[in-house]
Amino acid sequence: MLVVGGNLTAIETATAIAESWPGLQVALATSGELGGWLGPKARRHMLRAFDRFGVAVHEHATIEGVEATGAVAADGTIFPSDATVWAAGFVVHPIAAASGLDVDDHGRIIVDRMMRSVSHPEVYAAGDSAYAIGEDGQPLPMSCSSAGFTRMQATVAIVGT
Ligand SMILES: Cc1cc2nc3c(=O)[nH]c(=O)nc-3n(C[C@H](O)[C@H](O)[C@H](O)COP(=O)(O)OP(=O)(O)OC[C@H]3O[C@@H](n4cnc5c(N)ncnc54)[C@H](O)[C@@H]3O)c2cc1C
Repeated sequence: MLVVGGNLTAIETATAIAESWPGLQVALATSGELGGWLGPKARRHMLRAFDRFGVAVHEHATIEGVEATGAVAADGTIFPSDATVWAAGFVVHPIAAASGLDVDDHGRIIVDRMMRSVSHPEVYAAGDSAYAIGEDGQPLPMSCSSAGFTRMQATVAIVGT
């Protein structure tokens, strides 16, 4: 089986499946480096775990198609697989972009600190569908904690107006 992705969901999925079913051939393909954001020590530790579980790692492999018998990379490489788990990131519903709202590259609605759309302030967004800048000046990641914060912020803004 093949897991597509190189972030936490893919790492957890590939290792959990390999550990639970030691007889299964598990591979992972990712467009960048597996856990590329980790420090060198943590990354070495992670790669040792992948070795121990016998998970084959294919980095710099951008998957462009998934078929019943495997996945196809941009360079034509075929990764045979009876089952493919897609863990290559979140996708926002295209309705926001189609509505004419300002969105980021992932289709998230760009909002101000009150969770109002910067292009249509009468529209509020929260959770994964909102692109908001956090206290550290970085975009909030798609996560439960961001969803909790942005929903509270939107609620306060709406009730307070
Ligand atoms: C495998 C996995 C593991 C995760 N692990 C973590 C974790 O450990 N920690 C963490 O912080 N985050 C984690 N996340 C991310 C977290 O689940 C999301 O960031 C969070 O759920 C976002 O909340 P949300 O309410 O914005 O969106 P969602 O929880 O996705 O809720 C969206 C809701 O809208 C509904 N919906 C969608 N489209 C429409 C439509 N057109 N009309 C009507 N309803 C619609 C959906 O059915 C759904 O009920 C994980 C996500 C995944 C997929």
